[in-house]
Amino acid sequence: MTTSQETSQYFYDLFELGLEEYGDYKNIQEVIHNLKIFFEHSTSCTCRVLEKQKDIRTCFEKIGFKKFFQRHFQIVNLTDKELDLFLKAQLLAMEIENKNLKSSEKIIQRTNYRFCFNSTYSLCQTAFLMLYNISNHKFKNIVEHLHNEGINERIHGNTGRAPIYKTKVNIDENLKLIVKNFLNQYSLIHGLPSPMRHRNDSGAFIYLPTDKRFISVYKEFKKFYLENILKIESENDLEEEKIISYDSFRRLWNELMPNLKFQPLASDLCDNCVQFKSKLQLAKRNIDEYNNVEAEFNEHKKMANLERDHYNNNIELSKSDLSIAHICYDWAQNVTIPYSPQQAGPLYFLSGYAVHLFGVCKTEGGINKQLNFLIGEDELPKGTSKGANTTLNLVYQALQIFAKNGKKKLHITCDNCSGQNKNNLSLWFWTWLIMLGWYEEITINFMIPGHTKFICDSFFGHIKKLYRNSKVNQIKDIENIINNSSEGNESIQYKNGLGWKWYNFEELFEKKFKTLPNIKQYHHFRFNNLPENKGKVFVSTKSGGEEKWFNLLKDNNFSHNEPINIIPINIDLERKLYLYKKIRNFVEEPHKDVHFSNPDSNEMEIN
Ligand SMILES: [Zn+2]
Ligand SMILES: [Zn+2]
Repeated sequence: MTTSQETSQYFYDLFELGLEEYGDYKNIQEVIHNLKIFFEHSTSCTCRVLEKQKDIRTCFEKIGFKKFFQRHFQIVNLTDKELDLFLKAQLLAMEIENKNLKSSEKIIQRTNYRFCFNSTYSLCQTAFLMLYNISNHKFKNIVEHLHNEGINERIHGNTGRAPIYKTKVNIDENLKLIVKNFLNQYSLIHGLPSPMRHRNDSGAFIYLPTDKRFISVYKEFKKFYLENILKIESENDLEEEKIISYDSFRRLWNELMPNLKFQPLASDLCDNCVQFKSKLQLAKRNIDEYNNVEAEFNEHKKMANLERDHYNNNIELSKSDLSIAHICYDWAQNVTIPYSPQQAGPLYFLSGYAVHLFGVCKTEGGINKQLNFLIGEDELPKGTSKGANTTLNLVYQALQIFAKNGKKKLHITCDNCSGQNKNNLSLWFWTWLIMLGWYEEITINFMIPGHTKFICDSFFGHIKKLYRNSKVNQIKDIENIINNSSEGNESIQYKNGLGWKWYNFEELFEKKFKTLPNIKQYHHFRFNNLPENKGKVFVSTKSGGEEKWFNLLKDNNFSHNEPINIIPINIDLERKLYLYKKIRNFVEEPHKDVHFSNPDSNEMEIN
């Protein structure tokens, strides 16, 4: 059942390459890696390039990676004897007759070949040898043998073929659910704070650290599956049919959790950059198109650098001028309760009490501090849960705690995720803060994700690391983890509304403010407390770009002191019952009643 992939140091995603059927072959990752390296260097191609040639693709790019790989892989798995015969047949078909030679002159002349993939695609010799996975030396030997002995067999030992494993387990809905739950829990425990910050519900990428492999995750799954679902002590007691194969596991992973990935190379963290790179690849058919795409790509990189410099500049400013507060904020991945590094097994197949984590980081005087809001799954406001109104409530609280007193200016850096940050509700909120007289000026800048290391992520990283090595029975334990995780990390709990309140900003502001047209095209927003600027937002598309302004107020007489309603928390009885029945068992005494009490016997407020 095991394959030699455990020793592989690469992890190309076979599904992304469209090569999933090769999942159970030996050394597949190495073979892909070698070919990938070859493909990445256009100098690998020694084809003659004509001047004025529009199509600048290499000979192998014209064939495409998948097709080239498939042929290459079949050839790699031939025995030496098979390879000889196959290659000789190809050589005979590719030979170029030299018509100028008389038959008497045929001694010691070099044979020329028109190398090709098939009759559509020609290849240079370098690419041909790569396709056949043979050295120049071996190639010459075979050519010579063909000359002297014809297609007779050369004498050498055989090498074996890579084996194919096929799954025998029937994959039903129940098994799918088990795998899905496992991967979900696995991502909560091991996932990294997403440097791409994709937070919409459909595409929230979660990255696993680079010390993990598909095969290592599969091995953990197998172990926990044996112990907790099949309740078998060792693999030896197992009939082979009882557990799914690595191949099937990979298929299910791709089907059920396509967003759980391994952390890509630093250069591939930006979505746009990745898209540009593949567009460039395609545009190679036509040099004019290629130049156009390249110019757009450069423009994007320039823009990203500009925003990064702006961000760094804000950090720099806040170092020396203490009247400036500079903050960044973001949601992290949830953590779950209970957790124990020794007994993680069963919990991989259940869903524990979720605790949401939101961080507001302040850079000031060269020291970074992060306030981390801990919000239990039954402490979120009714209705919008993790939407813009929720986010702004936490920022509102954080500002009062550590970024209001003695500050004249507030600089905010956000990621460019429109759902939670770049929305009208946020603009109205900042306008309102200016009206409250909290600051003379507020500026908000949106970074282009994937190009800058975001401070919040490193604070989240410290928390996650300590969490994985700690025993967690209640939200208080997470509070301790945060406070001990690093010098600058501090936590705050909701505590029935003692920590903060859930104000319904949305309800009030919607009545009093107007929306900003084309909000998405702007990267910079500025608000200012001069009387003539009441209700105005100044916007520009890039750092240092030209500003335009809009009046956001519907009604100039709006008093900033109007009362704001408070949103009650969301209570889900069915979920409470699940936690009580399925999870309570795994919680240690005397903490069982903190989050896992019996909802039936409890006098709970239900609204
Ligand atoms: Zn070539
Ligand atoms: Zn980019």
